[in-house]
Amino acid sequence: MSQLGTLEAGSRHDLLVGRSPDAPDEEDLREEEGAFGYAHSYETGSRYDGPGVRVVLFLSGCLLRCTYCHNPDTWHLKDGTYVSAQHVIDRLAGFAPALKAMDGGLTISGGEAMVQLAFTRRILAGAKDLGLHTAIETSGFLGARADDRFLSCLDLVLLDIKSSDPETYRRVTGRDLAPTLRFAERLAEIGKPAWVRFTLVPGLTDAPANVEGLAKFAASLRNVEWVEIQPFHQLGSFKWKAMGLEYKHADTQPPTPELINRVMGQFRAAGCRVR
Ligand code: SF4
Repeated sequence: MSQLGTLEAGSRHDLLVGRSPDAPDEEDLREEEGAFGYAHSYETGSRYDGPGVRVVLFLSGCLLRCTYCHNPDTWHLKDGTYVSAQHVIDRLAGFAPALKAMDGGLTISGGEAMVQLAFTRRILAGAKDLGLHTAIETSGFLGARADDRFLSCLDLVLLDIKSSDPETYRRVTGRDLAPTLRFAERLAEIGKPAWVRFTLVPGLTDAPANVEGLAKFAASLRNVEWVEIQPFHQLGSFKWKAMGLEYKHADTQPPTPELINRVMGQFRAAGCRVR
């Protein structure tokens, strides 16, 4: 049994490992009511993870292995701090008046917010009780786990669709694309607001046909309010090195302004609002 810890404000760019060595493997996690879970860190004052100014909670656990991931220290539960949902909600309560005044709220990211689904749901429900706008950032890979009770605690889904081409998706993440597309379509069916996020990685996800496929798919979903282009960066590369992981993007450059403009133009031409 992991020892209960406390969570202090930090940054997604902090390298945090090995804090719960007894945690189960993320594939084997059997949650019950989600009263406890594993968290990497939380940031205050983010303007990039949903509307307004937000607290972003980074949970541990992810089943994907994106080659450009800037948070490989969120992949495993054993690297996270074991905390109670109530502890997280109590911390959040202190920020609630400011978040509401700045039209913001809570975003739960990761890792993958749906690995610890019951824990995530409990925190989202606590945030709703505080009157906060709620969002998750997710790859959608575990979307089949999201039941109606979970979705009812959510105001917005930031859906990372890493590629429209199944082969590229597998090369990027090591997993199948289909569950993400199914989740996107389900969100559209129930009219759940979503922002599609696309990480633009030169030489990996930038092929015109790949962008075109995603642009057409996103444009077909009436619940998608924004498409956000996230340019590849190297801010997480030091973590790969420190963790002894093989990093394939040491020589990959961030996309040029010309490439970003081309990709934005493709989304716009398909009928998406893009930024
Ligand atoms: S889904 Fe996110 S946390 Fe998981 S490997 Fe990909 S970039 Fe990293």
